[in-house]
Amino acid sequence: MLRFYNTPSHLYEPFAPIASGTVSIYTCGPTVYDYLHVGNWSSYVRWDILVRTLTLSGYNVNRVMNITDVGHLVSDEDEGQDKMVKSALKHKKTAWELARYYSDDFMAGMDKLHLVQPQHITKATDFIDEQLTFIRELKDKGVTYQIDDGIYFDTAKFPNYASFARLDLEHLKDGARITPNPQKRNPSDFALWKFSPKHEKRDMEWDTPKDIVEGTSKKGFPGWHLECSAMILKKLGKTIDIHTGGIDHIPVHHTNEIAQSETLTGKPLAHYWLHNNFLLVNGTKVSKSLGNSILLSEIEKKNIDLMAFKLFVLQSHYRTESNFTWENLVAANNRLNNWASIIERKWQVNTTSTSDSKVSVALASALDALQQDLDTPRALIHVEEALRYIETRGLEASPEDIMEVEAFIQNGLGLYLHSSDITAGQKLTIKERADARKKSDWKTSDHLRDILKNQKILLKDTDEGQIWSRLQ
Ligand SMILES: [Zn+2]
Repeated sequence: MLRFYNTPSHLYEPFAPIASGTVSIYTCGPTVYDYLHVGNWSSYVRWDILVRTLTLSGYNVNRVMNITDVGHLVSDEDEGQDKMVKSALKHKKTAWELARYYSDDFMAGMDKLHLVQPQHITKATDFIDEQLTFIRELKDKGVTYQIDDGIYFDTAKFPNYASFARLDLEHLKDGARITPNPQKRNPSDFALWKFSPKHEKRDMEWDTPKDIVEGTSKKGFPGWHLECSAMILKKLGKTIDIHTGGIDHIPVHHTNEIAQSETLTGKPLAHYWLHNNFLLVNGTKVSKSLGNSILLSEIEKKNIDLMAFKLFVLQSHYRTESNFTWENLVAANNRLNNWASIIERKWQVNTTSTSDSKVSVALASALDALQQDLDTPRALIHVEEALRYIETRGLEASPEDIMEVEAFIQNGLGLYLHSSDITAGQKLTIKERADARKKSDWKTSDHLRDILKNQKILLKDTDEGQIWSRLQ
C-alpha cells in the first residue's frame, strides 16, 4: 500500500517497518545559529506529511529530531569556522544563549505551522557522553586517527563509503569546494571530534577523555555528523525504518553517518532514506548574501496565513525543486480561502442531507496519493474534487461529508482552516435580508448586505437561499 522512493536504490520500494505497527524515523534537524528561512521550513513541512501519512495509514510513529547546537562548521566538510561561534560573536552573545534563543524560535515556528511534534527533540550538547562513547568504540575498531586539529574517521576503512551517494572518490579531491586539511589520510575523511583551537576559549567545549586522545589531554567538541549517529543509536537502536533529510545531505552528512554507524554496529543504519529537494526563491537558491532568505515573520507581516505557505509547499512534490515567489504564495492563500469558504458551509447546510459516496472515494484517492511516495500535488487535486462535489450540492450538501473533508485537510495535510461559525446576530441579519428580498425590498436588502460585508461576511444568492462565506 505504502511505498517510497529510496535514495540508495533509486527505486520505489514497498514500505515494511521492522516492528509491525510502529515506524522509527530520524530527521536531521536545524543548526540553531540563525532564524530558519522558507527554504529550511519547507523540508520540515515535507516530513510533517510523512508522519501524517504514516499515522493515517495506521502506524504509530516514533520520531527523533536533533537540534544541532554545536560542531557544525561553515563547510559541511569540517572546515572553516563553527557556525554557532561565528553567529555568537556577531550578536555579542554566548553560544549557549544563541542556541537557546534560536531553538525557542524554531519550536515556536513548528507550533505556528502546526507541524506534528517529534516524540523526541534532542540537542547535540545533551549527548556529549554518547558521542564520546561512540568515538571510543570506533577507536577500538581501529578506524580512527588523530591529527593536529582533531580525531578523524578513516573512510578507507569503510569499503562501501562511496556507494550510498554513488560518489566518485577518485575525483572527489578535484571537485572539493575547500582545500582539505593536508594531514587527512583521505579527502573524504571527517572529524569525529575537533580540538579547541590553541589559545582560544570556546563557550562550548569538553575535556577529551584520556583513553581517546593521544598525547596531552585537550578540550574539544564533537563533529557535526557524529551527533545524528549517536542519537539514533541511543534513542532508536542500531537500525531505523526511515531517515529523512535534504538532498544536500546525501554526499557528505548522510554518507558519513552511515560510515560511522555501520562500522560500529555492523547493521544497516536505515532501511529507507528519503530526501527532499530545494525550495528556490525567485528562481535562485536561498542565500543570505542574495537577501532572499525570507522568514516566516515576513509572511505574517504581510497578513498572509502561514497555512498558505504550507499549502504552497505541498503543491509540489518533495523530490522536485519548487520556486517561492510572493505571487505564488498569494495564489496559494486564495486557494486556501476558497477551501475555507466551502468548509464553512458545514454551519449552513441542511442537517438532514445524506452523504455523497463520491466524497469518500475522492478522499480515499487523496490518501492513496500520499501513500505513493507522498504525492502531495495529486492529493490536493483529489481534495479539490471532494470540495467540488460539496459545492455543487449547495445547501443540500451533507454536513458529514464536509466534516470528513475538513478532517482530511487537517489530519492528512496539516492545514488548519478558519471554519468557525458566525454569530447569532449575524445569522439574524442574514435572515432579515432574506425576508427583505422576498418582499422585493431591495433597499433594505442591499443595506443589510453592506452591514454584513463590513463585518467581513460575504453573501452569495443561490436558488436554495443565501450562502455566506468569510471575506479575507
Ligand atoms: Zn544528521
